[in-house]
Amino acid sequence: MEQITKITANAHTHTTWCDGKNTTEEMVLAAIDAGFSCLGFSGHSYTWFDESYAMSQEGTKIYRQEVMALREKYRDRIHIALGVEWDGAARDLDPADYDYTIGSCHYIYSPKRERYYTVDYTVEELEQCRDQVFGGDGLAMAKAYYDGVINMVWMRKPTIVGHLDLIRKLNAGNRFFDETSEPYLELARAAAKACVQAGCVIEINTGGVYKCYRNTPYPAEPILRYIGELGGKVTINSDAHDTKGIDFMFPQALELMKRCGFSTVWQLTEEGMKGFRIG
Ligand SMILES: [Zn+2]
Ligand SMILES: [Zn+2]
Repeated sequence: MEQITKITANAHTHTTWCDGKNTTEEMVLAAIDAGFSCLGFSGHSYTWFDESYAMSQEGTKIYRQEVMALREKYRDRIHIALGVEWDGAARDLDPADYDYTIGSCHYIYSPKRERYYTVDYTVEELEQCRDQVFGGDGLAMAKAYYDGVINMVWMRKPTIVGHLDLIRKLNAGNRFFDETSEPYLELARAAAKACVQAGCVIEINTGGVYKCYRNTPYPAEPILRYIGELGGKVTINSDAHDTKGIDFMFPQALELMKRCGFSTVWQLTEEGMKGFRIG
C-alpha cells in the first residue's frame, strides 16, 4: 500500500449548481492550486419537496455535462470525478449515472405531519421538530435521525456516508441532547456500525467547523475511535461550498485519524476510493 503524508483529494464539494458560492471551474482551479491529484463534485441531489439548496432536475443534467467537460479540459493537471450528495429523501436517482455517491441525511420526516424537518438549517426548525414530533424529547429525535441513516445506508449502500452525525450540528452546548451520554453514543455507534457493515467509506467532514457551528469535525471523536475499532474505512472531506474551503483542516483531520488509531486513510482517485498508509 502506498504511503501518503498529505491528503490530496476531496470528494465532497458543492458549486453554484446547488448552494455553493463558486463555479465548477473555480473549484477545479482551487484544487489544482492546493496540489490535489483528484477532485470530486457532489452536488445536492434534487429533492422534490425542498428546492432551496439542491440542484433542480434541469440543473442536474447541465451539472453532469459541465463536470464531464472539465474532466477533459483539465485531464493533464488533475482527475475530476462526478459524484452526487444523495439525500436520504431524494427519489429517482440512478447511482450508475455517477462515478460515486455520498449518502447523506438532512431531514427527519414526520408521517403524521407529512412534513420534512431540516436537521442542519436553523435551531428554530429543529426545536419545532423536537417539540411537534417528539414531544420535546431531543434524544428520541436523535434516534429518528440515526434510524434514517441506517435505513439509507442499507437501502442504497453509497460509496461514502456524509457527515454521519450531522444531528450534532446545532447541538452546541448539548442544547437538544447530551452528546456524551451513553444512550446517545449507543445510537451513533449503531449507525456507524451499519455503515461499516454495508461496506461504505465514512467521511471525516470538516465543513461544520469551517462554518463555525462546531469545534471538531463529524463524526465526533468517540465515534471515530469506534469506527477504527470496527476496522471501518475513513476518508477526509471538507464539504466545501467555496474555493477557500477546498482543503480546510485536512492536516488536522489526518492527525486526528492517527490519534484515533487509524493506519490507513481512504482517498478518491481515478480508480475510485483507494486506501493509503498514513504511517
Ligand atoms: Zn450534506
Ligand atoms: Zn455537502
